[in-house]
Amino acid sequence: MTALKSTFLKLNRLILFLALSATVLTFINSFYSNYEVQKEQLILQTIEVNRAYASKLSDTTEVFIKSSQQQLSYTANSLYNSMNDDSRLQEEANRLKFQTDSFNSVVISDAFGLTHAASPETLDLVGRTLSSAGSVEALEEKKALISSPYLSTLKNLIVFLSAPIFDMNGSYLGFLGGSIYLKSPNILSKILGEHYYKNGSYIYVIDQDKQVLYHPEKSRIGSFVAENNGIDEIVANKEGGMLLTNSKGIDMLAGYSTIPSTGWVVITQSPLESTLVPLTGIMEKVILRTLPLALAVFLFIWLFARAISKPLQQLADKARSLDSPTVNEEIEKIHSWYVESLGLKRAMLSGVKLIQSQIGDLKRDAETDPLTGANNRRAFQFRLKQLTLLEVPFSILALDIDYFKRINDSYGHSMGDEVLKQQTKILNRYCREGDMVARTGGEEFVLLLKETSIEDAFLVAERLRIAISEETFDVVGNITVSIGVSHWSISKVISAEKTLSLADKALYQAKEQGRNRCIIANGPI
Ligand code: GH3
Ligand code: MG
Ligand code: MG
Repeated sequence: MTALKSTFLKLNRLILFLALSATVLTFINSFYSNYEVQKEQLILQTIEVNRAYASKLSDTTEVFIKSSQQQLSYTANSLYNSMNDDSRLQEEANRLKFQTDSFNSVVISDAFGLTHAASPETLDLVGRTLSSAGSVEALEEKKALISSPYLSTLKNLIVFLSAPIFDMNGSYLGFLGGSIYLKSPNILSKILGEHYYKNGSYIYVIDQDKQVLYHPEKSRIGSFVAENNGIDEIVANKEGGMLLTNSKGIDMLAGYSTIPSTGWVVITQSPLESTLVPLTGIMEKVILRTLPLALAVFLFIWLFARAISKPLQQLADKARSLDSPTVNEEIEKIHSWYVESLGLKRAMLSGVKLIQSQIGDLKRDAETDPLTGANNRRAFQFRLKQLTLLEVPFSILALDIDYFKRINDSYGHSMGDEVLKQQTKILNRYCREGDMVARTGGEEFVLLLKETSIEDAFLVAERLRIAISEETFDVVGNITVSIGVSHWSISKVISAEKTLSLADKALYQAKEQGRNRCIIANGPI
């Protein structure tokens, strides 16, 4: 039993393990899926917020560019008859420069690129022929333009907005241009830089060539975005959002929107890491909310599994004490509430019944003489011991058939057997509750009479002797018996064996005295 316990896991512990692992796995699973869903939600939300923000900023910038172009066009249209009036041109250039915040500088050039007015005047461009990309493009195209970023004559990185000047006949007279200095405070930085930057979020603007037009890090302005795995998609699409890795290798949630008139893209992005910071708090709440349910599930599984194991455990306990006389009733009492345990219980009950009946048969066989069905010497001696231990007084009748050898010789051994059987029936008639008939030898029997005095025992012996002598035995006819009688009680100082041998002695005397008689044993009876 001890070996069993140490080698095998107890069912209870297995169940506890099952309940615990089922609960923990479910809990981890729900926690993990919750975490993933929340994370995805946060990411999608942040991307969407950034996209909406980029879209709003791109709209604002579009409005600014449109109004800047209108200002340029309107002024250019009013200059058709002033191209020879440099002071008027200077006045208009100053007005455009200082009346609005739109441009860092304003120039008015004639059809040959010669600058007639420039504001601020400190630029010292008047009288110079401009050869920068924006001016050349304006002269060639002769229409309203927004240039790509380029290095100006004065080595500023600029974007150049220009409007052509025509006379009444439509002849080209020159252009009016406004520059935005990308690396100096400009209208773009005013629109975009005002916004609140937190958690590492920032906004930047690139053109279709991926050149940075605006960036909170000034050194990045004018550079080209290269090591950014999402930038091609951003340039290709009009508006959207995505998870990308920026040029510093940081994962970013980006929203972007293209400014229609320029093709520039406003990108708003936030680091993934800071976006996920609230997740810790959310997951703490998830744990706190899930934990009671997980505990309840654990308790339920555990109790349910215990209820399943209980009848099995009880049946196993009973299986260890099948020899107990009450085991049957104890098994009956076990509540086997499901089919398998009920099957086991029934199997055990029928097994116990079989074992008990077999034990009963074996016990009977061990105590019974097979020929006559009377008790054998072992059963008789056990009964003797029992009575002496319980100090119950008794008398013994030792009986032997007279001249039995002759019966055997005359009628055969089997007829002798029949006599033995028939005689046993007669002896049994003289037995009360608690008395015993035993065959102690070939044709020798004893009758044990409980709580019977020697006198009464002698009377019983006599009646028995007469009854046998009067019985007609099949084929054999009449037989006689001799009987020795002795008595035991606690007051006599003799043993049960001695009492038996005294009865045998008296029987021997009866034989000696001519047989067919009863004799009370001599001695301390
Ligand atoms: P006595 O009057 O002195 O008792 O004479 P007896 O012939 O009965 O002598 P004894 O008791 O010594 O003989 C017992 C005989 O009983 C001997 C044996 O052949 C016979 N016997 C013993 N057991 C059995 C048995 O199981 N069946 C039969 N048929 N005979 C048995
Ligand atoms: Mg004999
Ligand atoms: Mg005999």
